[in-house]
Amino acid sequence: MYYGFDIGGTKIEFGAFNEKLERVATERVPTPGDDYDKLVDILVDIIEKADREFGTQGQIGIGIPGMEDAEDGALLTSNVPAAKGRFLRKDLESRIGRSVQIDNDANCFALSEAWDSELQGEKSVLGLILGTGFGGGIVIDGQVFSGKNHVAGELGHTRMPIDAWFHLGEKAPLFECGCNNKGCIDNYLSGRGFEQLYAHYYGENLKAVDIIKQYGEGEVQAVEHVDRFMEMLAICLANLFTAFDPHVVVLGGGLSNFDLLYSELPKRLPKHLLSVARVPKIIKAKHGDAGGVRGAAFLNIR
Ligand SMILES: [Zn+2]
Repeated sequence: MYYGFDIGGTKIEFGAFNEKLERVATERVPTPGDDYDKLVDILVDIIEKADREFGTQGQIGIGIPGMEDAEDGALLTSNVPAAKGRFLRKDLESRIGRSVQIDNDANCFALSEAWDSELQGEKSVLGLILGTGFGGGIVIDGQVFSGKNHVAGELGHTRMPIDAWFHLGEKAPLFECGCNNKGCIDNYLSGRGFEQLYAHYYGENLKAVDIIKQYGEGEVQAVEHVDRFMEMLAICLANLFTAFDPHVVVLGGGLSNFDLLYSELPKRLPKHLLSVARVPKIIKAKHGDAGGVRGAAFLNIR
């Protein structure tokens, strides 16, 4: 049995999965504000309850918005104050007497998709989240690759390629990023980036869904904006594909519901890739909001 926790800023979601990777239990509780002991107690309670229900000791994985420090295991997360700087893995392991896996929530998203029945035979899966930010996760042979410092897949904080910059034209905006750098693609390729680029060029704050609706109606600014965005996205993704050469790319987050992505990107990518490279399969995530908890549980599949 595989147990997964997706710990977010406002809620903790739990899921239990059987050996066929089918979900057999679900629980959602609010995340305690900044009470670490309460957080640990909540996790222990849910684990012990599931153990009793299924008559076994499930293997435990946790997804968080952040990562463990690669040297001492302290949690680096700003969205979950109760866990910030804490040694959650060690503390939980000593309470329940078994090993615990912790990984970044975007890595868990990618892992969840990689273990979908249709993708299990794929050598590598690159998961990209086009949501509030631009997140990524790399899965090779069914395992997350998180790198020396656990920052592999933090693709939102790679910088805008020079040809994408020129593509944005004379009025190209240099957005500052929460990581203190400038020009991180997190601020351009995300749903938020889609909206702030529109506001930059047209002086109007519209929601992504409304821009997309106007695009569908043939509104001139929206059509121009979407064309500019698609080409910029193709240039940036081509850079990432040249670095990773993934077998499959799975898109998640709000903007992944924009169906035009799946017809436009394969048309626009080839001219930005090496001539020997073929465009990988680009598909929409199948597990949506459940991806975090599935992937957390599947951290234990070896
Ligand atoms: Zn950044």
